[in-house]
Amino acid sequence: KQKIGILSLQGDFLKHKQAIEQCGHEALYVRDAETLQKCDKLIIPGGESTTMLLLIDKLNLREALVDFGQTKAIMGTCAGLIVLATTREHLPSDPLKLIDIKVKRNAYGRQVDSFIDTVRLEFEGKETTFEGVFIRAPKIVELGADVKPLAYHGQDVVMARNQRIMVATFHPELTDDSTIHRYFIENFG
Ligand code: GLN
Repeated sequence: KQKIGILSLQGDFLKHKQAIEQCGHEALYVRDAETLQKCDKLIIPGGESTTMLLLIDKLNLREALVDFGQTKAIMGTCAGLIVLATTREHLPSDPLKLIDIKVKRNAYGRQVDSFIDTVRLEFEGKETTFEGVFIRAPKIVELGADVKPLAYHGQDVVMARNQRIMVATFHPELTDDSTIHRYFIENFG
């Protein structure tokens, strides 16, 4: 049984907890470095990336999070993706830069800024579909050489990974399908 931490400063951490428990693992709410140290993996949920980053710095969690991401796996969804990326797009401070992606925030414009649509998952060469819940979602506009796409919406890459970091622009925790949480739990060391 793995201990999966969920950064719970802000955003929709409860739904991630339920998804992890559904997969048969233990979920821990992380609000300090001591609890983080007990975790095998971490999830940074959706929410509002400006607020989340302000709280990370206010609570002095930046160093602990960057250290964690250098040895253990982190999944970031939506705002969590923005916090893990390399671009500082209208953010109060640098993001954690643990995955080499460039991101555009609120990239779908005002009228369609929230929608549900089919996403094509490509895990280990196997193609399946997933119901993607996009809420004022960002877009990944550039992927670094060590970043592998894992899912597409139309032409857009909406989920990607490097060795330890996995990100999605949508909210897998809001769909009654634990495929993506299970992939994170089972395919990262
Ligand atoms: N629009 C938010 C941001 O820029 C992200 C929205 C979300 O996490 N659902 O931080």
